[in-house]
Amino acid sequence: METKLAVPIAARNIDQASEQIKSARAAGADILELRTDYLENLNVDLVKTLIAGINNAGDKKLPIIVTCRDKQQGGAIDYPQKLRVDVLAAALKAGAEFIDFEYDNFLSIEGQEKIRLALSQSSKGRLILSAHNFETKFDNIGKLYRNILNVCPVAIPKLIYVANHINDCFDAFDLLHQTSAERIIFCMGAGGLISRILAKKLDCFVTFASIDELNATAPGQLTIKDLKELYRYDYIDTETRLYGVIADPVGHSLSPAIHNACFGDKQMNKLYLPLLVEGGRQEFDSFIHQALLRKWLNFRGFSVTIPHKQNALSYVRASRGYVEPLAQKIGAANTLFVGPDGKLEAYNTDYAGALDAIMAGVKITKTKLNGLPVAVVGAGGVSRAIVAGLSDAGAKIRIYNRTVEKAEKLAAEFDCEFAPLGDLKSVDAKLLINCTSIGMHPNIEATPVPKESLKRGMAVFDTVYNPAQTLLLKEAGNKKAKTIDGISMFVNQAMAQFKLFTNTNGNPDLMRKVVCDSLSDK
Ligand code: NAP
Repeated sequence: METKLAVPIAARNIDQASEQIKSARAAGADILELRTDYLENLNVDLVKTLIAGINNAGDKKLPIIVTCRDKQQGGAIDYPQKLRVDVLAAALKAGAEFIDFEYDNFLSIEGQEKIRLALSQSSKGRLILSAHNFETKFDNIGKLYRNILNVCPVAIPKLIYVANHINDCFDAFDLLHQTSAERIIFCMGAGGLISRILAKKLDCFVTFASIDELNATAPGQLTIKDLKELYRYDYIDTETRLYGVIADPVGHSLSPAIHNACFGDKQMNKLYLPLLVEGGRQEFDSFIHQALLRKWLNFRGFSVTIPHKQNALSYVRASRGYVEPLAQKIGAANTLFVGPDGKLEAYNTDYAGALDAIMAGVKITKTKLNGLPVAVVGAGGVSRAIVAGLSDAGAKIRIYNRTVEKAEKLAAEFDCEFAPLGDLKSVDAKLLINCTSIGMHPNIEATPVPKESLKRGMAVFDTVYNPAQTLLLKEAGNKKAKTIDGISMFVNQAMAQFKLFTNTNGNPDLMRKVVCDSLSDK
């Protein structure tokens, strides 16, 4: 059974519906879901006309699901139950392949009798019995699934709930894994996003995607374009190996775009997901533990970023996995790899990524970094990796930071100097590196360094990559200083991760192109 991609048609009238149907067909929908509760002045004839229109469209015939939700279960307009049941019965008569009725409402005698009669008179029509929880997980999703099948064994159970955290998705994954009949199970909300993509890997009967963001009918619904282009939906199967970036927030991350593009480039059966892990160490540990426990999910590696790099290192240490000495020294891991024995390995590719970007940008070898006066602005995670790398190479580092105590602590660890941000007005360094988020989208008019401090003969590296040309780099360029943008570091660290994940080299030009294209889209 191949998971079908259903696109909801949520139109107010026939004209709007025709437009949406055209777009859904063009985008590659496998099934159309007519959300008739969105139609103004709903009546049976309107629905019959719509179905006839779809069935008589000349090109490929698309199966239809007809839905008419009540308000309680996410409906748009609150039509009376009698009308909603009449619409579904008429849809079957008009040739719809599926009708979707709420399980709770099906329990009412009147609704059930009419629906059963209409089904018995239809040669091919099938019933989807659906249950929604718009607040949280179901108390016992397995029991609900069995109850639905007890009431109507030939129905396709549909169980949809809000995942308030990514860890809530595991109930849905387990039920999909334990069952094999036609069933629709996934999660709504930002925490549930991966369940919509993994529906195909876990053999769910359908997954839903919208034509565009404006036409989404449920929270967290992806667009058909993202599903197909960003997440390579057409290539996902039960064997697909999983990777992803663990972060909070994760929506802005370019890692899914670059890794999936490279998996596609090399025709690898691998998928890279955005993994929104909210909370701290406990939630992080729980996610990794639950993801790896379910070997059938086939998670093989993770990128890790704010705020979980320290948590990643602690987890691997506690589970007695392998920790690369450099990650140990930096105190943070940005890459986790699931080794052949199932044990986790922790690495830090930020360090090498940054150092390579500097050496290529300034055109110097590592030995030339020895004794070089370097100003590092910021004392967070990226600064830490860069300070570790530069101090290893013997550079003479001064760390400038808003919170001076943090600069002092980092400086003490790596035996360098520290100063408050204000001292940057008299900075005297050959290489200046911005490791703060100052200047990052949307605050692109900000810069951490007064332009008077920038000089010819200096090299300036900004780790911020969105935008690539930050105000700091523009002002440094105006002073004829050498400039290095954050994309080079980003691509380098991603290349190193790709190598760890796949044991082959990624395509750096493709990675840079994907990053630049994504940034210019914004
Ligand atoms: P982090 O651990 O949260 O550290 C943030 C740093 O920025 C701290 O030093 C913080 O100072 C400083 N900061 C933040 N807002 C500030 C403000 N308004 N004024 C003054 N200082 C401010 O973050 P991180 O992981 O190190 O990431 C830092 C930046 O690196 C990111 O924003 C991103 O642009 C860039 N980055 C680039 C790449 C790449 O591959 N190119 C990869 C990852 C990150 P306090 O200590 O005073 O809070």
